[in-house]
Amino acid sequence: MRATTDVVVVGGGIIGAAIAWRLSAAGASVTVVDPAPGSGATRTAAGMLAPVTELHYGEERLLRLNLASARRYPDFVDAVQAATGLDVDYRQTGTVVAAWDAADLAALRDLAELHHSLGLNSSMLTARELRELEPSLAAGLPGGLLAGDDHAVNPRRLHHALLAGATIEPQAAVSIDAGTVTLADGDVLGCGTVVVAAGARSGQIAGVPATGLRPVKGQTLRLRADRPVLDHVLRGSVRGVPVYVVPRDGGELVVGATSEEAGYDERPRAGAVHDLLHDAQQILPAILEMELLEVSTGLRPGTPSNAPVIGAAGPGVVVALGHYRNGVLLAPITADAVTELVLHGRTLPAVAEFGLDTAVVMS
Ligand SMILES: Cc1cc2nc3c(=O)[nH]c(=O)nc-3n(C[C@H](O)[C@H](O)[C@H](O)COP(=O)(O)OP(=O)(O)OC[C@H]3O[C@@H](n4cnc5c(N)ncnc54)[C@H](O)[C@@H]3O)c2cc1C
Repeated sequence: MRATTDVVVVGGGIIGAAIAWRLSAAGASVTVVDPAPGSGATRTAAGMLAPVTELHYGEERLLRLNLASARRYPDFVDAVQAATGLDVDYRQTGTVVAAWDAADLAALRDLAELHHSLGLNSSMLTARELRELEPSLAAGLPGGLLAGDDHAVNPRRLHHALLAGATIEPQAAVSIDAGTVTLADGDVLGCGTVVVAAGARSGQIAGVPATGLRPVKGQTLRLRADRPVLDHVLRGSVRGVPVYVVPRDGGELVVGATSEEAGYDERPRAGAVHDLLHDAQQILPAILEMELLEVSTGLRPGTPSNAPVIGAAGPGVVVALGHYRNGVLLAPITADAVTELVLHGRTLPAVAEFGLDTAVVMS
């Protein structure tokens, strides 16, 4: 057995990278085991930090966690950027949701009422207010909603910054146990604590407790416009199908996303590209003139409750899994919670109801 660091983090996506960064900043020595860090869902993610516009009926428990992580974002980004000198394209410009037709507008009004009943920051927009905020939108959209606190970050840049300076073991883990990780080449790493954060593939590693984890395939497109066309994150739904466009530095835009139950199939599907472009151009016509840079496919790590599982899984093992649609948003609170648990044996109150016991009961 090869003695390594205080902590071995299995999986170097946005969750594992944030955990490794926070633990290192707190003084622990950390190794990240991953054959291709950042090649999972992190690479595909749009980077919306959207507790309000990602709220689904019946997910109020997850909403509280999402809000708690969103509140940590400004300090988290400041700390990462200050430590690394890298800019992660964090945009605190809010999110505009455009209604496509009258039925859509009525649905947005119901949603706004739900937001208000939960004390969330959102307000309805008239057709004119919508066009004033985003002049490039299609003519004739009947109105919309502004969620002023739903922001965005570039997940690839954030991930790159978090892993700058990290110790990486570029191999897959095949099994874990209390304080040990067995690698694909048969080597065994010894450490104080193993943290499992391997996204949708976590359940394929022997020794990881069952959480009902399933992969939910999602596709995004990267486009480039000659000039900036959006100030806010733009969301909408076209004939009931959700679509979004997230602006980035340099005129880049991310269009997303599909949601497909396709097992571990990560191949891009031509029909998905067609549907995303078709729906996005209904609300932002300029899309069709832009340069198509990339089609990207990733597997969201979903649990039966759609909420993550963050907590101890026995002596020397901690899991941070199942971040599903919100892993980029939930990176700061997950990193803080795991650091608190590993270094001080304490459960952060915000994640107390997301431990392994709760997850198993709910599945
Ligand atoms: C289309 C799409 C759009 C999304 N948009 C957003 C968004 O706007 N906002 C948001 O908050 N979230 C979004 N998400 C969700 C977000 O991407 C995920 O929740 C997040 O990436 C989960 O992070 P993770 O680190 O757990 O998993 P991943 O990012 O999948 O990373 C897992 C890592 O584990 C590694 N790994 C796998 N198996 C092993 C092994 N055996 N040993 C070692 N390493 C291993 C992989 O190589 C990978 O690097 C989106 C996801 C998709 C697919």
